[in-house]
Amino acid sequence: MPYKLCTYSCIYCQLGRTIKMTIERKPFYDPQDIVRDVAETLAQIKGEVDFVTFVPDGEPLLDLNIAAEITGIRHETGSRVAVLTNASLLYQEQCRLDLAEADLVSVKVDAASEQVWKRINRPHPSLRLSEILEGIREFANTFKGRLITETMLVEGFNDSRDEIRAIAEFIASINPHKAYLAVPVRPPAEPYATPPPPEKLVEAYNTFTEHIGRDKVELLNMPEPPPETLHGDPAQWILSTTSVHPLRYTYAVKLLEEKGENPEKLLSSLKEKNLIRIVEYRGEKFITRTY
Ligand code: SF4
Repeated sequence: MPYKLCTYSCIYCQLGRTIKMTIERKPFYDPQDIVRDVAETLAQIKGEVDFVTFVPDGEPLLDLNIAAEITGIRHETGSRVAVLTNASLLYQEQCRLDLAEADLVSVKVDAASEQVWKRINRPHPSLRLSEILEGIREFANTFKGRLITETMLVEGFNDSRDEIRAIAEFIASINPHKAYLAVPVRPPAEPYATPPPPEKLVEAYNTFTEHIGRDKVELLNMPEPPPETLHGDPAQWILSTTSVHPLRYTYAVKLLEEKGENPEKLLSSLKEKNLIRIVEYRGEKFITRTY
């Protein structure tokens, strides 16, 4: 996706505030180019690939060609394909049909009430939460692949007992394979988007397990594990990784050293070209992309 087109401007977004908010679907790239790029990248990877995942810097269903890209990648590479979506366009039948091509879909469910949804996800003004939840329900009823949900908990926004219960009830009603509870662990769009305190997390986890089932709920409140390796050109890898999420400075240094690079030199040169920035969040340094 061109940076950063989205239907939402979530307060916790790792990509900063949405630059162009839209609900208009468009073709952005030639699907054949995307399929070829993915196939070339996969050819360089040793070891097993679980999924090729659409994690764009914006909402992936805004891409009118997503169905062709999903089927093209699966056909060309034999890999399963996953899509992470905010689900805001699933009220449209064509979006549900396009997404049904994926093997795994993760839908965002941060709120069950309109007011909380508007505060945390800051949606495009023409969207309605009731229609989105109905769209997710319809999608869940017919989707043949694996459906998972992700709920980002932000202190003071969606961590009240009532909201958590309403979210859990909705998620239980669509019976996902897994329901993930997450907290901001990388620099958010708004500095006030912080994780709820531990006692609130425990309460949210318990409410989720009560409604959805213990084996189906996972709480992601730890830093993500480091990437296993760095593929292709190191500078390009830093730029493409940071175009979808901030990268921990320590992880980047370790991987660059493993590739025989001088991390200080490479990162300084990207900084001087104004391609990256080093920011601090909760006492840790991150590399973020500049646009
Ligand atoms: S977190 Fe996802 S849905 Fe929210 S603004 Fe960022 S890209 Fe859009």
